[in-house]
Amino acid sequence: MEIVSFVCSPEEAKDWNAIKRITAKQTGKSYEYMRWKKRSIDARSRQIKINATLECSNTPLPDRIRTFTFHKVQHSPEVHIVGAGPAGLFAALQALLLGIKPVIFERGKDVKARRRDLALIAREQQINEDSNYCFGEGGAGTYSDGKLYTRSKKRGEVELVLELLVYFGADEDILVEAHPHIGTNKLPKIIENIRNFIIEQGGEIHFESKLTGVTKTGNVISQLEINHQQKIPTNQVILATGHSARDIFYLLHESGIKILAKPFALGVRVEHTQVMIDQMQYHGRLNDDYIPPASYSLVEQVDGKGVYSFCMCPGGIIAPCATSNGEVVTNGWSPSKRNNPYSNSGIVVSIDPTDFDNPADPLVCLKFQQEVERTCYEATGDNQKVPAQRLKDFVDGKLSADFPRSSYTPGIVSVRLDEILPPMVSKRLQKAFKAFDKKMPGFLTNDAVVHAPESRTSSPILIPRNRETFKHVEIENLYPCAEGAGYAGGIVSAAIDGMKCVEAMVEKHHNG
Ligand SMILES: Cc1cc2nc3c(=O)[nH]c(=O)nc-3n(C[C@H](O)[C@H](O)[C@H](O)COP(=O)(O)OP(=O)(O)OC[C@H]3O[C@@H](n4cnc5c(N)ncnc54)[C@H](O)[C@@H]3O)c2cc1C
Repeated sequence: MEIVSFVCSPEEAKDWNAIKRITAKQTGKSYEYMRWKKRSIDARSRQIKINATLECSNTPLPDRIRTFTFHKVQHSPEVHIVGAGPAGLFAALQALLLGIKPVIFERGKDVKARRRDLALIAREQQINEDSNYCFGEGGAGTYSDGKLYTRSKKRGEVELVLELLVYFGADEDILVEAHPHIGTNKLPKIIENIRNFIIEQGGEIHFESKLTGVTKTGNVISQLEINHQQKIPTNQVILATGHSARDIFYLLHESGIKILAKPFALGVRVEHTQVMIDQMQYHGRLNDDYIPPASYSLVEQVDGKGVYSFCMCPGGIIAPCATSNGEVVTNGWSPSKRNNPYSNSGIVVSIDPTDFDNPADPLVCLKFQQEVERTCYEATGDNQKVPAQRLKDFVDGKLSADFPRSSYTPGIVSVRLDEILPPMVSKRLQKAFKAFDKKMPGFLTNDAVVHAPESRTSSPILIPRNRETFKHVEIENLYPCAEGAGYAGGIVSAAIDGMKCVEAMVEKHHNG
């Protein structure tokens, strides 16, 4: 097999005859079998280009994904996994690969039942506190943009997760695109396939089963309490409950299990039209059949703190992501085609425990996050509407008289966000938006709308663990896992961490 790389136009990249022509010209050969290996778009100059890499051969090409050997585990030793987000599900798959029986406890419902609770948020302005955009099968990433890029430099681990997603039904394109994403419409089916497979192999998944207590015996957790009643004796616990499970952080703290405050980020979600972003990023050209809806990534240092774009969703929708009534939270999702007329992104300011008078309080960042979510809730009345302001009005400190549009279905209310957000956040955001406008002229416009707050960017808590063994620093059989524990940010890194926790657990047993 030969690897052939070249740069071509977006039109050529969509035309297989053109690709064959370019490859033949470059190598002096023709190939019977050809397929994409990597594809990325370069829109830095007016002439948009595609960086193309192909696999070419005159014998059939090997399978794209490796062969996985999963075990039947009905009668194998068990591992208890709390949480069925990407971390919990991929921990379970790793358990099946290593011959251990995964038993998952998930507070939320399965993906289908969960969808009904999401519809209720917009219709009745009510949050089901165990089944919402963050809680339920598939975790926080289920109804998301499904972006699969990560800052992880460990290509092998990233490829393993992407190949597993393809094994369970994701399009092979996620192995090719430089910035792959799956989309809200396709993720639930993949998650359902993973669940059915875990059960077929002899694993267990218990929905509407919330961890409500732990029994600590010396330096081990000897028992899990589910739904305040069921007591489950346990040997090994993977805790993969995500960054929004505040009750878990309080439970650990109150049980005397060490947690620490951790830096995170908080700000707003800004929405432009997709046409505006395409025009800015594609030098006047709009996305068409040949180029995807444009995205952006912005970062600026303002008064000693990073301000940056987070979880940008081209062609997306702003979602109501609170997990309790009495608070509001925004985030974003997109369908696989990213074909909504809106484009949204979190713009957030780094927050550190040392920003507060009591940095040693493990809950200091969590309380700040919760306070901002409550303040924003109270600013609009007793519902899931969020406070909003036109972008330029926000920067100029003016109340917006009206709004151009918003994709946030529960609704928006005109509020001076610059007055209700903490000054260490709002003042930096105002300066950052001016700086972003220099990098992306046209960004700072009153046709964009700022929604608040964007507050669930990463966990405000670290559940400390040993670097090598992945065990909690004090509790022998507890594996704090992925985003909620402070060791991952995003679907892929959470999945990787889930797999690594199980791997570390098995190594510990083999090594005594
Ligand atoms: C709307 C939205 C869009 C997003 N878009 C993207 C994106 O495009 N790309 C990306 O990489 N990331 C995205 N993210 C972030 C991503 O979803 C998370 O980084 C990822 O899901 C973290 O995985 P996790 O398994 O660590 O935790 P989670 O996904 O948070 O899963 C934790 C699970 O634990 C369960 N749980 C919590 N408490 C308990 C308990 N007491 N007992 C039992 N179960 C419990 C929860 O119900 C949940 O299912 C998005 C998040 C949201 C909300």
